[in-house]
Amino acid sequence: DGVGRPASPRLSVIGTGYLGATHAACMAELGFEVLGVDVDPAKIERLARGEVPFHEPGLPELLRTHVESGRLRFTTDVEEAARWADVHFIGVGTPQQAGSSAADLTYVDAAVTSLAQAIDRDALIVGKSTVPVGTARRLTGLVAEVRAAAGLPGDVELAWNPEFLREGFAVQDTLTPDRLVIGTSGPRAEPILRRVYARQLAAETPWVSTDLETAELVKVAANAFLATKISFINAFSEITETVGGDIRTLADAIGHDARIGRRFLNAGVGFGGGCLPKDIRALQARVSELGLDRTMRFLAEVDDINLRRRERVVDLAVEMLSTAHGHEAAAAGPYGGTTTGSGEEVLNGARIAVLGVTFKPDSDDVRDSPALDVAARLYSAGADVRVYDPEGSANAAARFPRLDYVGSLDEAVEGAELTLLLTEWQEFREMDPEAVGGKVADRLLIDGRNVLDTAAWEAAGWAVTGLGHRFDP
Ligand code: NAD
Repeated sequence: DGVGRPASPRLSVIGTGYLGATHAACMAELGFEVLGVDVDPAKIERLARGEVPFHEPGLPELLRTHVESGRLRFTTDVEEAARWADVHFIGVGTPQQAGSSAADLTYVDAAVTSLAQAIDRDALIVGKSTVPVGTARRLTGLVAEVRAAAGLPGDVELAWNPEFLREGFAVQDTLTPDRLVIGTSGPRAEPILRRVYARQLAAETPWVSTDLETAELVKVAANAFLATKISFINAFSEITETVGGDIRTLADAIGHDARIGRRFLNAGVGFGGGCLPKDIRALQARVSELGLDRTMRFLAEVDDINLRRRERVVDLAVEMLSTAHGHEAAAAGPYGGTTTGSGEEVLNGARIAVLGVTFKPDSDDVRDSPALDVAARLYSAGADVRVYDPEGSANAAARFPRLDYVGSLDEAVEGAELTLLLTEWQEFREMDPEAVGGKVADRLLIDGRNVLDTAAWEAAGWAVTGLGHRFDP
């Protein structure tokens, strides 16, 4: 038992997805012995071979090094972890419940219960998953109950240490986070976690020591704020798309104000992924449960603005193709306009290249991806959609198999009547308008992320519309 002794605490990480696998490898990198646990045997088998089952820059190298050294091991046996480790990090999923906007806590409950039933010594359980406020307090009671009923020896304390890593930067964010937030319910967690995060503390990483509720809320507040920032600029996109104006200049100009800041003010097809959308919905559900029905109502609007971006891309595709084909513009106007029969006709059979299918670059994650959603909508309207993504096609194909996934940018744009850039991978930012222009049937482009040099593309004979910009036929 290393708890309370100067020896290094032994760590387990329960749930080895994007968060947990990264956390486990990074804790090994910090010098700890780590055991990763997951209920998915295929995932554990790959991790145990030193193979990362998803795309995350820098992670394969770390994982391989520490699996080979033996410092990092993996198992499907939670009881092994319960007997062996001093600190158990919980990194299991908290997805949106089917048919509700609330978070599904069955995985967190199962992970904590299975640990609590098997720990026979002093230990610390540290939640990292994103959970509705009140969850950690409830779990503290659950742990005590389960252990009392089983008459198990040892003192098990629960803490919450929410995770802020960004996919694509997960290793860097775990090793050098912007801050560490530690919510505790007893006296033992803080000194142990100070040892776990000694390297970050030495680097003067801000350390926020607080109660369980605040720790849970910090995470959802951060995500609600970021989602709001994106929908804020996207709401202004609806104005500039109607009246004219340049959304990028607007964002730059307000971003110069240090109180506002330029980051997360990129107008485009909106946010997605396994966190922001479900977290703002879960927060609304949770505050309603607390009787605070109005409190987070603005987040419903944030969500709506975000989802309207996807419709806007489809409408814009109709407008651009209609114009190119000499039809009268099919839609009466971007908002409140009706998509007429000719709009659907124009998509039917249209060859459309979709560049990017993940929710963000440098990740293979397609959970709630705006790009995949748009591709699927175009397909459903009858378009012949060809999708290329540097890393995300396999995950996208598992969710939406009927799209035509191709292995290169060139294949995707070959013969395309319209090209959509929907995820801003570096490969797409660096595209040469002349080279791509030589492949397509029509030089028509929607920049769904506002990352291309529009003037350079127009100079090469392309008609380009960025989201947040008025479509001028
Ligand atoms: P994920 O789906 O990639 O991973 C979850 C893993 O937990 C899966 O491998 C699953 O098999 C495993 N699991 C489920 N039940 C289990 C159990 N009882 N015992 C052991 N393993 C179990 O999800 P993720 O993206 O890693 O997210 C995990 C949590 O972290 C969520 O709460 C999420 O909101 C939060 N989070 C994620 C990120 C991110 O960028 N992905 C960032 C910050 C916070």
